[in-house]
Amino acid sequence: MKEKTRTIEQKCSVCDDVFDMEVIEEAAGSGVPWLKCPRCKGVLPYMGDEDGEEREEEKNEAEPETGDIAPEDFSVEEKENALEYEKENEYGLGDIIYHRSWNDYGKVISKEVLPGHRKTIIVNFGHQGKIRLLEGES
Ligand SMILES: [Zn+2]
Repeated sequence: MKEKTRTIEQKCSVCDDVFDMEVIEEAAGSGVPWLKCPRCKGVLPYMGDEDGEEREEEKNEAEPETGDIAPEDFSVEEKENALEYEKENEYGLGDIIYHRSWNDYGKVISKEVLPGHRKTIIVNFGHQGKIRLLEGES
């Protein structure tokens, strides 16, 4: 029996466009599906039915004051010591991460635990901008 792929329409903040995203996993109990953007291959949590433009983060923490990072902001040394992104690994604030699929370097600017105890890091990439990635997945 073949499992059919389920998709949910959601806006990708990276691509700034709406796609039918493949549901890659539904966290047991929490009901938070994870979606994969077909364009940038980024993984993002399902946001629910919201008006795309009027997204308001229901978080008390202010956005980290890091500003935008340009690819050239990473030194040769930082790139050499960058940690390759693997969702199984865990990262610390300030770690420099290399994402092979995107050929992009980024800095961990925030860590968050989402419903369902999914651990994530927010990485400010030189090319892609701020992206939420899973960490510590077994
Ligand atoms: Zn995308």
